[in-house]
Amino acid sequence: MGRFESKVVLITGAGSGLGRAAALQVAKEGAALSLVDINAGALEDTKEEVLAAAPETDILLLEANVADESAVERYVSETVGKFGKIDSFFNNAGIEGKQNLTEDFTVDEFNKVVTINLNGVFYGMKHVLKVMKNQGFGSIVNTASVGGIRGVGNQSGYAASKHGVVGLTRNSGVEYGQFGVSVKAIAPGAIMTPMVEGSLRQIGGDNWQEVGKEFVSVNPMKRFGKPEEVGYLVAFLLSTQADFINAAVVPIDGGQSYKY
Ligand code: NAD
Repeated sequence: MGRFESKVVLITGAGSGLGRAAALQVAKEGAALSLVDINAGALEDTKEEVLAAAPETDILLLEANVADESAVERYVSETVGKFGKIDSFFNNAGIEGKQNLTEDFTVDEFNKVVTINLNGVFYGMKHVLKVMKNQGFGSIVNTASVGGIRGVGNQSGYAASKHGVVGLTRNSGVEYGQFGVSVKAIAPGAIMTPMVEGSLRQIGGDNWQEVGKEFVSVNPMKRFGKPEEVGYLVAFLLSTQADFINAAVVPIDGGQSYKY
């Protein structure tokens, strides 16, 4: 029996990168999936990959913008309507935004990043926690970042939003532990997903792979993380094995955030 046999896992940002990797991992362990993304085509691709790896998986695809509260309310109610419960929620969708010094960071860009990364995570928690409190069980993993626990630079919107995600995680974890619900966050370093490729292209253009090599030269492990490595961590944190881990933020960055 897999850890997610007869469990329902809801994932946002499931069309790519870390969301897709987590979907694959929990499906291989028996989960039914409710997958949310703003990009419907990307969701279809994730579904195809999941079914190739775990053909029996029951999958609901929901196109939604996590920054729109009514869309969030809908993805939560449609998940409960189909599956009757939510055991685990990977509250993960996010964007990086354009890199700039703070003085050059436009207000529009700041608002856009914060609206998706912070408001989107809050809306997800608000509506899923209500369901989980009524059930008396559940786990939430929010995607923060090393940019949510350290200064990275050139990322005002991202830093503000991800530090905010850490705050939301600690606050709600403290509130909901008494109801049998745990809330935690992951703080990934640079994991090679389309988001990180986009970020390296912002710096290096066509030379992005060279920029990437230089970037990881200061990492204790001298490499990027792999999406599947985050998938293993998230699957553990979403499982009942991690129920007593609450309000905690778990880095997955090769040790870089602990380096002097
Ligand atoms: P990605 O770009 O590969 O995937 C993000 C997914 O989220 C995409 O499918 C995109 O369509 C979806 N999305 C974006 N905005 C959305 C919205 N408004 N509503 C619904 N879906 C939306 O990126 P990723 O690397 O997998 O990042 C996933 C999360 O991990 C993000 O929150 C990101 O900030 C965080 N993160 C990533 C890294 C990394 O190195 N890859 C490091 C730290 C944190």
